[in-house]
Amino acid sequence: MAKNIIEIDANQYEEFVLNSKKPVILDFYSDECVPCEALAPKYEEMAELFGEKIVFLKIYRQKNRSLAQSLSVFSSPTVIFYNLNSEGKMVEVGKRLTGAIKKIELIEQIKNLLSDKYIERVLSYKAKRRVDVDVIILGAGPAGLTAALYTAQAKLKTLVIDQDLPGGQVKITHMISNYPGTGEPISGWELAERMQKQVKNAGAEIISAVDVTDLELREEDHIVWIDNEIEVHGKAIILAMGAQPRKLNVSGEKEYAGKGISYCATCDGKYYEGKEVIVIGGGNSAVEESLFLTKFVKKVTVVHQFDHLQANKTAQEEAFRNPKIHFIWDSEPRAFKKTEDGRMIVTIENVKTHQFKDLTTDGVFVFVGYVPNLSLLKQDLSRDRWGYILTNEDMATNFEGVFAVGDIRSKKFRQAAIAVGEGTIAAMACERYIAGLKHKYTELAKSEMLYSN
Ligand SMILES: Cc1cc2nc3c(=O)[nH]c(=O)nc-3n(C[C@H](O)[C@H](O)[C@H](O)COP(=O)(O)OP(=O)(O)OC[C@H]3O[C@@H](n4cnc5c(N)ncnc54)[C@H](O)[C@@H]3O)c2cc1C
Repeated sequence: MAKNIIEIDANQYEEFVLNSKKPVILDFYSDECVPCEALAPKYEEMAELFGEKIVFLKIYRQKNRSLAQSLSVFSSPTVIFYNLNSEGKMVEVGKRLTGAIKKIELIEQIKNLLSDKYIERVLSYKAKRRVDVDVIILGAGPAGLTAALYTAQAKLKTLVIDQDLPGGQVKITHMISNYPGTGEPISGWELAERMQKQVKNAGAEIISAVDVTDLELREEDHIVWIDNEIEVHGKAIILAMGAQPRKLNVSGEKEYAGKGISYCATCDGKYYEGKEVIVIGGGNSAVEESLFLTKFVKKVTVVHQFDHLQANKTAQEEAFRNPKIHFIWDSEPRAFKKTEDGRMIVTIENVKTHQFKDLTTDGVFVFVGYVPNLSLLKQDLSRDRWGYILTNEDMATNFEGVFAVGDIRSKKFRQAAIAVGEGTIAAMACERYIAGLKHKYTELAKSEMLYSN
């Protein structure tokens, strides 16, 4: 156990938490838990920085289930913050953290335990760090992880950085049945974990659930800033940040995102057991996700802007056969509101008659396409008219030493197996590019030696 962290069990909860004289942070962790592994180094760092004033504890959830249940802890990791109240009683404060926990979120909660001034002072002593690698890979979805597997196996020092947990969109896909080699349909989460394990075994480092605060593309020396404190330099960089659901930009969408409006059926479908939902969209995602939602909900109403679906024929036929799925054609959402009892009201407009109508539902799922994750890019890379990055067949962009792979790249089809193939190509091209750099400098050194002789 790292410095300043104490491992306790349920019998010690009273002594170490409730009777503590200092603020306490308690981390419920589990084995074989990717977000727990991602949290561990950040938790250790917080304990080193603030261990003088705060008691940092860890408790193994699987062996202390009844305590976990009594505290309503149902997932790992769950980090709970405690402080003494005005009556000197130790009580839970702030917000519990679960899932892919970022360092910045831990610091935000520590503000409930220590003064801002003290925190600022401690953080100001923290030295900024520089890390040098051969290849930086931004994004740990299938494209980035495959690229990392190949560059690591080619003995290039490889660092994969992701703002979330590794796995990309695959990890939130319920089941994947079209990825070769799995034999039978496999849960996206499991496939993502297997990919991640293989990449780590090959020798690549993965840093996940961090804030990528800046990216600077510079010839032969690209820089990525993590959490504003680690400056990563790479001879080459592979951009594999994928894409994210397109927003409707309709009134109320931002306000209710995550509070009634969702972009992921796999993540949120389970919260609508026995309820009614509206799906916006009519392409492959909208239809496939509607079918998935029928496992939970009693009714799905698909609102689509045209009078026909754009999904593939098989999915369309399945949807038309499903008695739980209903359609409203030629209509677009114009506003989202909430009723007093927490249901959603979707105002739709018929684009042919221009008549407006309010629909009341329990939840809304939006599947109207994707946009590439390019907010970090300051430099101009060539892109297509939808913003996706253009590359040559080696996945090289128009900027030297910068490659782009997977869903971020301009192309017709987006699938895991395609992303994996592109990751492979980019890694092989990147290896040649770096070998070329070495050759270039050896030649340069030789000519300089000749010159000086
Ligand atoms: C609901 C759904 C179901 C699907 N089903 C299938 C299927 O059955 N079969 C199939 O083959 N494909 C399926 N796909 C498509 C497949 O998941 C994608 O094509 C594939 O994941 C693309 O891989 P990628 O690595 O390019 O991007 P992603 O998987 O999107 O990964 C990108 C990664 O980059 C990270 N990232 C983004 N921005 C930054 C940043 N600024 N800094 C650092 N990291 C960043 C993200 O956190 C993410 O982890 C499905 C997709 C969805 C959404």
